[in-house]
Amino acid sequence: MIILFIGAQASGKGTQAKIIAGKKGFVHISTGDLLRAATGELKKEIDSYITKGKLVPDELILELLKERIKQPDCKKGVILDGYPRNLQQAEELEKIEKIGKIFEIWVSDETAKKRLMGRWNCKKCGVAYNIVTAPRPKKDKICDGCNIPLYQREDDINEEAIEKRLAIYHEETEPILKKYKDKVIRNNG
Ligand code: ADP
Repeated sequence: MIILFIGAQASGKGTQAKIIAGKKGFVHISTGDLLRAATGELKKEIDSYITKGKLVPDELILELLKERIKQPDCKKGVILDGYPRNLQQAEELEKIEKIGKIFEIWVSDETAKKRLMGRWNCKKCGVAYNIVTAPRPKKDKICDGCNIPLYQREDDINEEAIEKRLAIYHEETEPILKKYKDKVIRNNG
């Protein structure tokens, strides 16, 4: 059984998913992180979608996810963050694992946009800070834990990519929440 975290960009779903996974001893799988970890030609292909704010093709992400989910550590339980993002992906997931609870983290588009502009990340530990809202790093744009400079994702500083990602969220991802409404627990992000 798998737990899903679904929410718009910068809703805080990744942060929450990580905290809960840590407390429960589950594995946190972020499909965005899986994609960003790719290298070589595959990375080039993936980036051609991500930087424009588009979803990568379903088959590509499914392959990466299947590979990750069959690793032995996932037997402890998995929290999925960023998958599924459309009904087709939800169907594919059901072929692999039973969907348990779905935590929806809701945020308005206005707040999401504000947060995305101020989001700075650590490449090493993956923590996301926010220099406009919170949490801010103690030293300007330096990771508290790793003491290395933070970076901004290309798709977070490109207004067109932000608009596209939010539109895809409403059009393609939200229908999942409707379809599985009996499993959904709604929270404000
Ligand atoms: P965000 O939710 O803020 O866009 P993520 O790190 O979850 O950030 O994802 C970054 C990008 O990776 C997405 O915009 C999309 O291009 C790609 N991606 C992540 N998960 C999926 C998925 N399940 N299906 C297709 N593309 C995905």
